Amino acid sequence: MMRLTHRLACLLLILAPGRAVAAESPNVVASIRPIHAIAAAVMEGRGEPALLIEGAASPHAYQMRPADAARLEAADLVFWVGPALELFLTDALDALAAGKGLALMDAEGMRLLPNRVAGPFAAEDHDHDHDHSHDPLEMDSHVWLAPANGRAMARAMAGRLAALDPEGASLYAANAERLARRLDALEAEIAARLAPLRDRRFVVFHDATQYFEDAFGLEAAASLTLNPARQPGAKRVAEIRRLIAETGTACIFSEPQFPPRLLDVIAEGSEVKRGMLDVVGVELTPGPEHYPQLLLAMADAMQACLSE
Ligand SMILES: [Zn+2]
Repeated sequence: MMRLTHRLACLLLILAPGRAVAAESPNVVASIRPIHAIAAAVMEGRGEPALLIEGAASPHAYQMRPADAARLEAADLVFWVGPALELFLTDALDALAAGKGLALMDAEGMRLLPNRVAGPFAAEDHDHDHDHSHDPLEMDSHVWLAPANGRAMARAMAGRLAALDPEGASLYAANAERLARRLDALEAEIAARLAPLRDRRFVVFHDATQYFEDAFGLEAAASLTLNPARQPGAKRVAEIRRLIAETGTACIFSEPQFPPRLLDVIAEGSEVKRGMLDVVGVELTPGPEHYPQLLLAMADAMQACLSE
């Protein structure tokens, strides 16, 4: 667990880059790229948030680095999804940025769906200590993949930023509404593109796409593993191969964080197409454009793999 001595914490505070003594806008840290992107859009023209998980690491299994601790220590405000996604931040926020976190899963207007656990989404074994991220008793934490949740998160961020920085309040609110209108248009465009593919079934590596499916009337046939930190075993792979044959599954998706070799084994001897879903957008450039680009990239990947 992340526990720093007071002396180390002070040192990190001094070393933290770019922290002016009397900052005009709050020093904001965001956990993952989509959250960072929404914050960047809301703060545009007033400040820029820092991104905590910069690389391709999965937020489910992220390990804090000293530089992350320094960022949290210097932050006025930390945007994250919540303990169901970035478990590593729960203790880190307590130790380094108590009272400065905004867990967006709890924000007003968020539509939350429970983790899928039945049948094809079942884990091959139940190890709840190590499967916190996809615990069947918790809500699904991949909330950003619904545009409606993107709008709710933007408004929640604008509200919290305004409380810290009243001078910027009208700018934050206007930026949030501008992003929301853009997401309205994007949602309509993606819905029109994916509508003809609603009866096509697909398999995902880990069950991260429920919000996207819910928003656009799609439906996954199965996920390979509930626990993204663990590869599915031979029994699970055999089950998925059988399910692909029985349901006429059109496509199976890997993710950048997970090995694509397994898909070769699963797809062997079948007509199933292979695609890639980058649900966190690790292959897209961080910044205010990242979130709309992520939703579009998801739609592109779905359309390419599900089309006949
Ligand atoms: Zn996940």
